[in-house]
Amino acid sequence: MVDNVILFYAKYPFTQYAKDYISSKEIVITQKVIESAEERVIESITNNIVPKFIEFVDETIEQELIIYAISRMIVSALDNKYFSAKYAVAESKRAREYIEKENETNIHKLVKDLELNFEKEGNYFLLPFAKYLKNSPGSPEYFLINKELSNGKIRLTKSEKNRIIEEKIRQRVEKTLPKKQKIPEVYKLQIENSALKIEPLLPKPKTKEVNFSGDIAPCMKLLLDDLYQNKNLSHHARWSLAIYLHKIGKSKEEILNIFSNSPDFNLNITEYQVEYIISKDYSMPSCTTLKTYGLCITECGCFNPIKYIKRFDKNE
Ligand code: SF4
Repeated sequence: MVDNVILFYAKYPFTQYAKDYISSKEIVITQKVIESAEERVIESITNNIVPKFIEFVDETIEQELIIYAISRMIVSALDNKYFSAKYAVAESKRAREYIEKENETNIHKLVKDLELNFEKEGNYFLLPFAKYLKNSPGSPEYFLINKELSNGKIRLTKSEKNRIIEEKIRQRVEKTLPKKQKIPEVYKLQIENSALKIEPLLPKPKTKEVNFSGDIAPCMKLLLDDLYQNKNLSHHARWSLAIYLHKIGKSKEEILNIFSNSPDFNLNITEYQVEYIISKDYSMPSCTTLKTYGLCITECGCFNPIKYIKRFDKNE
């Protein structure tokens, strides 16, 4: 009979509960564990899928947690932001599959661990505005303009709530990957060998750049540079950059090309989002708004990035 508490750890190995559990155990790394961890990393980065090796029964659940821990160390040893971001996306999608079928008690336990304080209101869920800003994904249906804000809280359907949990998991997995230098000495050689072995098998990011003529506002330039380095942008960063690109005259294809550098790029979803922005012809958020999103990087002397002209920049 599977212990439900331990089963929770195996489904959600990024939680503090799982971490506390596994750190109380003596870890034995077998060749089988190493091979499974290597496969987990390869499949996550290449196909966006975390493979299932284990039917969850008591004796193997612990092994699942160890495979997760070793996979994270291998990702860190790869030392590549693009791989780290892709790996985090796949782990969050794996967790989402369990969340969709999860019971209320476990959901409550999970969101508490993730510090997402949803409140139930009938068939809806309320999330404080600040939490929403940090954890909402980049699709148009999550744009603030499409959301109901009341008493400082955003109203969400169950499926939107689950998507936000997924996004929070993605952020946590990526942010908590161990630093390469912090991989414990006892595993270091094995982990580095695994990283060396699988690195040639992984897809390399292909940077697609689009030519710009004229001046680009510093905040938007930084977002472009981040994308060209295959970093994941926040919801507000994507939204603001997509509007900006549209407003300065970039075509749908050019915008898609730029966003194709994102580690979680999905052509169909992004195309829909970009078409939505173009069809609604949203106004570019002002510098004041961008400051509230944390996207302003310097007082460059204008009030809206669209109006930016280099000679205004007091910092040059
Ligand atoms: S002042 Fe405006 S244009 Fe300049 S960096 Fe800040 S948000 Fe961007």
